[in-house]
Amino acid sequence: MSVRKTVVIIGAGMSGIAMGATLRKANIDDFVILEKGSDVGGVWHWNRYPGLACDVPSHLYQYSFATKPDWSRVFATGPEIQRYHRDVVEEHGLTPFIRTSTEVTSARFTPTGWVVETAAGDTYESDFLIAATGVLHHPNIPDIKGLDTFTGPVVHTARWDDSVETDGRRVAVIGTGSTGVQLVSALHKHAAQVTQFSRTPQWVLWGPTDIKQPAILGAALRRLPGLNRAVYSSSLWASGILADITTRDTWRRSLVQAAARAHLRTVRDPILRAKLTPNYEPLCKRQVVSGTFYKAAQQPNVEIVDTGIDRITETSIIAADGTEREFDIIILATGFKAHSYMRPMNLVGRDGLTIDDAWAKGPRAYRMTAIPGFPNFFTMLGPNSPIGSISLQYTAELTSRYILQMIQRFQRAEFTAVEPTEDATNEFNEQVRDALGSTIWTTGGCNSWYHNDDGTIDLWPFDRKTMTRMLTVPDDRHYHFTRG
Ligand code: NAP
Repeated sequence: MSVRKTVVIIGAGMSGIAMGATLRKANIDDFVILEKGSDVGGVWHWNRYPGLACDVPSHLYQYSFATKPDWSRVFATGPEIQRYHRDVVEEHGLTPFIRTSTEVTSARFTPTGWVVETAAGDTYESDFLIAATGVLHHPNIPDIKGLDTFTGPVVHTARWDDSVETDGRRVAVIGTGSTGVQLVSALHKHAAQVTQFSRTPQWVLWGPTDIKQPAILGAALRRLPGLNRAVYSSSLWASGILADITTRDTWRRSLVQAAARAHLRTVRDPILRAKLTPNYEPLCKRQVVSGTFYKAAQQPNVEIVDTGIDRITETSIIAADGTEREFDIIILATGFKAHSYMRPMNLVGRDGLTIDDAWAKGPRAYRMTAIPGFPNFFTMLGPNSPIGSISLQYTAELTSRYILQMIQRFQRAEFTAVEPTEDATNEFNEQVRDALGSTIWTTGGCNSWYHNDDGTIDLWPFDRKTMTRMLTVPDDRHYHFTRG
């Protein structure tokens, strides 16, 4: 099968849905969204582990064009967020544009536009290609001796196996990030034993992560759309504090860091508290928020092991100090290869330039969304996106409106191909590097998935106002336009 479209979007996760909704709103219907998974929702489709929730308040973790009044909890659960994405797709008429279970294997820029091939052997040709392929997608499987010899289930949280039964079992959780914290908080209630293997403890900020939103509030917000919009706008405004405390060393940062330290002091046993105490500053890694983890860690059926893992046998994990513990299940909460972006897809731009060659020194883009050598190609939440400091829905919507302008100009025959200049891309990346120097991610003394292999940090070091300024209207001086 071969199909011609104006736009091909890869990925029907949060940002692909935002892009699709933006195109539809602009009456551009000649597009398709190709999604590898069997459903929309991106991370909310792939992640189904016990305790999955969002540690961003529900009234912030939503689209501005689809504010939901009646979230059931202050911090929604994974299944509810996934239902929300399905509802948005349905309500915004996106279903006919989405092809699920359709994995893109390659995309090549040719004189007549992009040629996109899928694993099923279908071909899509398009004028524009948009990668909404997400950041936290490719599971990081740890290289631990003997892991493949374990005879019980070994499951990564982002590829959860619904047939795995944890109730009444002895469960090992490897990893202490947001995922490991949510898992331990949930599993200990029904498992016989939960043992968390902690290579690096994380700071945990308290938040009302298990509190229900009163039904009366949902009903009131539904009846008063103006108030509902005001709740969203004020949540967005208040979230500015995140960019502020991570990028600027002020009393506000110190206050939040003090709150994280105070929360840790709620762990009474000094030996356990020592195991849970990081040796770097709060906010340095992607901040974990949980109102339940420290309580869970103090339960009699929960153990934190901080001695490192030596090896895994058919039935047990042997720690670096030689102690052996038997398990029924091993859960890998070991995170993601966060810098893969659209790879392993074979992406080839102008003059045969591959993305692997373009990114040989690490992911690099112009203002998160455009890459020199890749004409009529844009990324949603590409390199240097504000993961953990600015609303990702806000970022995706802003980026989609930016890309839309380029598509509309193409349709008005202002150009046939557009790509950012090397100079503008270098200038942007230098600004980023300079600004990153004073952020907590650089000064806080930690290592995290924010770091590229070369030690640089793949984050947005500016505030939301700066992002809005950079992505409201394309600056033509920063682009090469091909005409005719
Ligand atoms: P993560 O933050 O990258 O944490 C991975 C954990 O696995 C770390 O504790 C890491 O230890 C450990 N690990 C990795 N390889 C290991 C090995 N070989 N041996 C022992 N330990 C190993 O991953 P995550 O918890 O899945 O979270 C990733 C991101 O997803 C979060 O930062 C957040 O942005 C997002 N997330 C969000 C939510 C939410 O509620 N919004 C929930 C879950 C996840 P080291 O620290 O020593 O490397």
